[in-house]
Amino acid sequence: MPRVRLFQMLEGGVEMNEAVRMCGTCGETKPLSEFYKDGKDKEGNVKYRRDCKDCYRITRLRARRMKRRV
Ligand SMILES: [Zn+2]
Repeated sequence: MPRVRLFQMLEGGVEMNEAVRMCGTCGETKPLSEFYKDGKDKEGNVKYRRDCKDCYRITRLRARRMKRRV
């Protein structure tokens, strides 16, 4: 039931008029404020990281631990 799902998304606090992006790691759709900016593209549009802040932090922590172990 797509309509019910859309309603639940709105209830969840994700506003439809807000720019959102799907995280490449957890696959969740989150507002752009949940992503780190990552420079600009050729046309001067702001680029965002592929992962949300949560996932970025987790990946960085993991990478640091791996380094320490090696
Ligand atoms: Zn994520």
